[in-house]
Amino acid sequence: MGVLTGRTALVTGASRGIGRGIAERLGRDGARVAVHYGRNEAAAKETVAAIERAGGSAFRLGVELGVPGDARALWEEFDRHADGLDILVNNAAIGNTRPIRELEEREYDKAFAVNVKAPFFILKHGMTRLRDGGRVVNISSGLARTAVMPDNMAYAMTKGALDVFSRDLSKVLGSRGITVNSVAPGIIDTDNTAALLHGSPDGWAKAAAISALGGVGEPAEVADVVAFLVSDGGRWVTGSWVDVTGGSLT
Ligand code: NDP
Repeated sequence: MGVLTGRTALVTGASRGIGRGIAERLGRDGARVAVHYGRNEAAAKETVAAIERAGGSAFRLGVELGVPGDARALWEEFDRHADGLDILVNNAAIGNTRPIRELEEREYDKAFAVNVKAPFFILKHGMTRLRDGGRVVNISSGLARTAVMPDNMAYAMTKGALDVFSRDLSKVLGSRGITVNSVAPGIIDTDNTAALLHGSPDGWAKAAAISALGGVGEPAEVADVVAFLVSDGGRWVTGSWVDVTGGSLT
């Protein structure tokens, strides 16, 4: 029996990268996991299969975020598989935006629609499904608190907005014993960072040099922190911003 046995978790963007790492970890801890994806159904199937191979239980939900009605569509699909949930991880995001000189208005709007508006409305329409004593984790970024990559400014701005959402939502849901936290990764090896890490011969070394620990993170390193926050041990942590950057902000 795992520490999350009997709980249901929804992880957005769980087909790949950090979301997949979180989904697999929560599955190993005993939760039944809703594996959300946008377009990559094959990758979502792989996540579900990996959870089941490890002895866990999971199902997949394909809903594009950042379009009108996205949150309602997500919950309609979710309701076909489960009756309420205990853990919600807002992880899906557009990970890069172009420099301010080049960024078009529609790209800016899309980043905010996927990274900020979608989590907001997923909560607005999901609060009644979230059981008392539940957990919400919003995946932020170290870039919300450092100007080390100003060319990715609009993306960083979305994460700043998401952090305000975590902070204020913790007050709204606190009376029900529901905690809400932001978890902020540094550079993690995923599809999203492939160009940064592998696009030039010194990409990996330059990225590693940013962290105090001298490395690049793996999805499991973020998943372990999320696993703590959603466990019983995390019950007195809310409205918090948890730095999982390997010391990249020091
Ligand atoms: P990836 O690009 O590897 O994966 C993104 C995931 O989000 C995929 O599952 C994708 O689904 C889903 N997704 C993206 N856009 C949409 C959309 N419009 N509708 C539905 N689903 C969507 O990202 P990472 O794993 O790198 O990042 C995960 C989170 O961590 C993000 O919030 C990111 O901002 C944050 N983060 C990442 C860092 C890093 O270094 N990697 C650093 C700091 C924060 P599909 O497979 O179907 O496309």
